[in-house]
Amino acid sequence: MKMPAPFAGHHQQLEGDMEEVHGIVIVGGGICGLATALALHRKGIPSLVLEKSETLRTDGGSIGVHVNGWRVLEQLGIAAELRETADIVTEFHDVWQQENKSVVVPVRDELRWLKRKDLIETMAKNIPSGAIRLSCHIAAIDPTGPENHGAVLTTLNGSIIRAKALIGCDGSNSVVAKYLGLSPARSKPRMFLRGFTRYPHGHPFGPHFLRLRGKGFFVGRSPMTDNLVSFFVAFWHPDEDAAKDARAMKDFVLGKLQAGQCSDEVVEMVRDPEPESLVVLTKVRYRPPWQVMFSSFRRGTATVAGDAMHIMGSYIGQGGSAALEDALVLARSLSRAASAAGSGSGGGELCEKTISAAMGQYVRERRLRVVRLSLESYAMGMLLATKSLLVKLACSAIVALLGTHSLGHTNFDCGRL
Ligand SMILES: Cc1cc2nc3c(=O)[nH]c(=O)nc-3n(C[C@H](O)[C@H](O)[C@H](O)COP(=O)(O)OP(=O)(O)OC[C@H]3O[C@@H](n4cnc5c(N)ncnc54)[C@H](O)[C@@H]3O)c2cc1C
Repeated sequence: MKMPAPFAGHHQQLEGDMEEVHGIVIVGGGICGLATALALHRKGIPSLVLEKSETLRTDGGSIGVHVNGWRVLEQLGIAAELRETADIVTEFHDVWQQENKSVVVPVRDELRWLKRKDLIETMAKNIPSGAIRLSCHIAAIDPTGPENHGAVLTTLNGSIIRAKALIGCDGSNSVVAKYLGLSPARSKPRMFLRGFTRYPHGHPFGPHFLRLRGKGFFVGRSPMTDNLVSFFVAFWHPDEDAAKDARAMKDFVLGKLQAGQCSDEVVEMVRDPEPESLVVLTKVRYRPPWQVMFSSFRRGTATVAGDAMHIMGSYIGQGGSAALEDALVLARSLSRAASAAGSGSGGGELCEKTISAAMGQYVRERRLRVVRLSLESYAMGMLLATKSLLVKLACSAIVALLGTHSLGHTNFDCGRL
């Protein structure tokens, strides 16, 4: 497919200085940035991913991907390969320890717990070599002119990259979101310990995901394969001393689980995780739903996707799948614009207008979906942590109305690429 000028990955090193010109530039090579680059590539549109780390960040343990995320992975052409790496989860076992109550809820459609490493590496290897640039930290972004058609990116070492279209997939502390004028993401103190544990002789948990609510804590445990189990432990009211380092945090968590009379199986799982899988977080970052509703997510030919757009607490486990949905919808909008520009009059200026219209279409298409997810995540977070009866009632009403417990939000199909 021959691409019209604004997308053609023409890349020009201007003589005598450190300045390059590119078509579509994606800042951030996490789940969203790679998914966007891959989706664009599948549509024959080149892009350049700029990632500040020296390697693609494959740390972070595991990620639960529900049916909405799998639909996107299908469209990206990598679902079959990824399914080989992770077993399906068929039931939730919900346990309220203090109330001595438990229920079994069937999982709606497909849920599998992937290693982040597998997801990131599978996307990366399907993107043309040279389209991902590592150790490229974008420090500042400036507009190119009054109409914001394009952006000028300055790297930490002073190089200049001109982008005709800019997509910020740079996570919670996004430099692109700042350029768009978005408020910084908010944060609340919470403690999360997550990782995965290997059972060389097989684990006994079957295809069941445990959701255990204890006094002030929550344990999630999901099988990944016959030998591998993913877990997280969350505390709503963190202990400041424990949050100082990973070892103190793990001791604190184990102490609490033992004091909370968690079963030996749970304690042992947390005691012996794969060292590289362990992630410790002391804050939950989020963009409140009203910000997601009313923020302007586009400036000229620049926009944001994934956590940069709508970071949410991990209470409903949808941040990653929502980022995949963003990637698909954005690539589809740009590809439709490319086709229209290819068959239309197509001057440079018109094409840049077309890019900004495509980005506007993407933002409109995503807005209500990401508001809903942000609202559900926000309400779940408040519900678990608040001591106010009134707030509890309001959040319970939202969660009941939106069907959060029955995973209504996973039943979403953002369509074909
Ligand atoms: C504890 C926890 C559990 C979670 N569990 C789940 C789950 O089970 N299911 C689920 O769907 N989601 C889950 N999520 C959410 C999910 O991890 C995120 O929503 C997802 O990773 C967002 O991807 P992203 O690419 O938008 O951002 P990120 O993964 O943050 O990637 C951003 C990338 O941009 C790079 N970058 C940042 N700034 C710059 C810069 N200036 N220049 C160049 N590069 C830059 C970073 O190095 C990084 O690689 C969880 C999140 C947390 C914290």
